[in-house]
Amino acid sequence: MLFMSVKKRGKDMELVSHDMWGVKIFDHTPTNKGLVHITVNPKGVTCGRCETDNCQHIQYILTHVELQKTFNQKRRQNWNIPEPDT
Ligand SMILES: [Zn+2]
Repeated sequence: MLFMSVKKRGKDMELVSHDMWGVKIFDHTPTNKGLVHITVNPKGVTCGRCETDNCQHIQYILTHVELQKTFNQKRRQNWNIPEPDT
C-alpha cells in the first residue's frame, strides 16, 4: 500500500500524496472505503472514482490547506481548477 499513516481526525477523507499528475486521497467512509485518484490537468479536475468534476472527493482536495498554494498557482496559469462550493 502506498499510504503510510492514517491519522484519524474525525474526517472521512485523508490526503495521501500529490504530484504533477494529480492527487491521491483515502476515503474512509464505510461504503466507499479505498484510495481515490483525482487527475489534475489544465482542463480541470476529474475524480477517478466518481468520474465527475464535482463530488465529495473533489470538494475535499479543493479545500485542503496543503493544496491551496498549488491550485492557486495553476489557476494563475489558466488551469480550469474550480473553486470549492461554499
Ligand atoms: Zn469522487
